[in-house]
Amino acid sequence: MSQISAETTEHDSYQLTAADRCDSCGAQAYIRVAIGDSELLFCAHHGRRHQEKLEAVATDWLDESRRLLEDSPA
Ligand SMILES: [Zn+2]
Repeated sequence: MSQISAETTEHDSYQLTAADRCDSCGAQAYIRVAIGDSELLFCAHHGRRHQEKLEAVATDWLDESRRLLEDSPA
């Protein structure tokens, strides 16, 4: 049983850029998952989809999917 801290909810600055792409579909990545020395990037859609499995093994979880709301044009 591993537990992931919930300290990724507040970030002063975003770490993912438009150059970061989802490993599954190539869309812009909003979720970064660290597993030991490896790193996976996912769009919001695939991040949610794999979250249940990945959370069991992830050592760090960065979710910037709220940018989808903030970045939406008014
Ligand atoms: Zn994707």
